[in-house]
Amino acid sequence: MNGSAALRRLPSVDRLLRALEARGTVAAFSRRAVAACVREVLTAARAHVRAAGVEVGEAALLGEVETLLERRLGGTLRPAINATGIILHTNLGRAPLGVGARAAVEAAAAGYSTLEIDLETGERGSRHAHLEGLLTAVTGAEAGIAVNNAAAAVTLSLAALAPGAAVAVSRGELVEIGGSFRLPEVMAQSGARLAEVGTTNRTYLADYEAALDAGAAALLKVHRSNFIQRGFVHDVPLAELVALGRRRGVSVVYDLGGGCLVDLRAVGLPAEPTVQEAVAAGADLVLFSGDKLLGGPQAGVVVGRRNPVDRCRSHPLARALRLDKLDVAALAATLRAYLDPDRAWAEIPVLALLRRPPAVRRRLARRLARAAAAALGSNAVVDVVATEGEMGGGTLPGAVIASSAVRIRPTRERPEAWAARLRRGTPPVIGLVRDRALLLDVLALLPGENTQLARALRSLARDA
Ligand SMILES: *Cc1c(COP(=O)(O)O)cnc(C)c1O
Repeated sequence: MNGSAALRRLPSVDRLLRALEARGTVAAFSRRAVAACVREVLTAARAHVRAAGVEVGEAALLGEVETLLERRLGGTLRPAINATGIILHTNLGRAPLGVGARAAVEAAAAGYSTLEIDLETGERGSRHAHLEGLLTAVTGAEAGIAVNNAAAAVTLSLAALAPGAAVAVSRGELVEIGGSFRLPEVMAQSGARLAEVGTTNRTYLADYEAALDAGAAALLKVHRSNFIQRGFVHDVPLAELVALGRRRGVSVVYDLGGGCLVDLRAVGLPAEPTVQEAVAAGADLVLFSGDKLLGGPQAGVVVGRRNPVDRCRSHPLARALRLDKLDVAALAATLRAYLDPDRAWAEIPVLALLRRPPAVRRRLARRLARAAAAALGSNAVVDVVATEGEMGGGTLPGAVIASSAVRIRPTRERPEAWAARLRRGTPPVIGLVRDRALLLDVLALLPGENTQLARALRSLARDA
């Protein structure tokens, strides 16, 4: 192929723009953005033609422009189907919101709201007012506020209660949450100093006492939310730490992580310490996430005794870490469901998924497998396998949730290729590849998603 002839045959900017106008791309992204992208793609195409001497077709160029626009300016945050078998998948946005929370977000987003106004006086009010009554009602605490996430709650509490001072933490509780969140590093940002006590596997009350003798100003207990210690292990129960804190006049902060408000043994899971228990044990502050076991929006809840909560609320950092109005709306609606635990189990998607019986999961998987087998024909061998699902989100480590998955073994292609194709579909479907098979676990499938998943499998068949 003659390179200069191929160069001449490249379409003009105008021609591509007209084609993109007809395809609706200009309306979606603006003429200016599309034109800039067309020029960029044409420049690259010219270089490619010069180097390789090959023809570049118009359809390929248009596709490239659209892909680039979509990636840079399009909606990259899209709804996706979680077929991983992990309910609180951090990469997939943790907890899906319930109907009540979604409606509350919509209402708060659509117009003005009473976010920070006292309707009695007309004066400025507090956004925390929307949450405090609910937080105290469902946790039994005297007071409560919420900030951006649990990491922010840790930072704020230590900054408010132990500024510039040492805080005693067991060496067995220096948790890394993932995504490079390490508790000691977050703590350091608060201005408090970490005073490590005990050893990795054994920490005694005397270790905390020694830290207080050396000047520590607060005691921090961290729930080992995402790992288990077994064997020669000892740690100090919260109630004993609380008694020590009272005796010595220092605050006890408990970073609970998960924020469980219900008894998970009701669905055959191991008992997870609940917020209510931690509050009842007398911790000055209990901190937890909004979007883990609570099943609400991203948030970091701080509940506990009146005085320490007020100190958090009035600390300057609270302004920087505050929750936005959409999350206030979603969190309030989520908490409202917990006023009645039966309603919470039914309405909070994370809890409803946990409560779905294994037999229902199996039936769901069988139905999907039939759709997959019909769609994929001789392109794949399809069956249903038992799987061990997880709660995820750094909660309930080691707890297994009996689930089922559709197992798809392509006859000619690699399962990774099919997994990638499902990820790139609309909506993206995120499955797993195990033992040379594509697994689509039904554990975290929300109502209605099996139909969408079946449709995705049919388009997989068309591409195969
Ligand atoms: C998850 C977790 C956090 C961080 O929570 P985010 O809401 O993600 O900031 C902090 N502490 C513990 C113990 C956790 O499990």
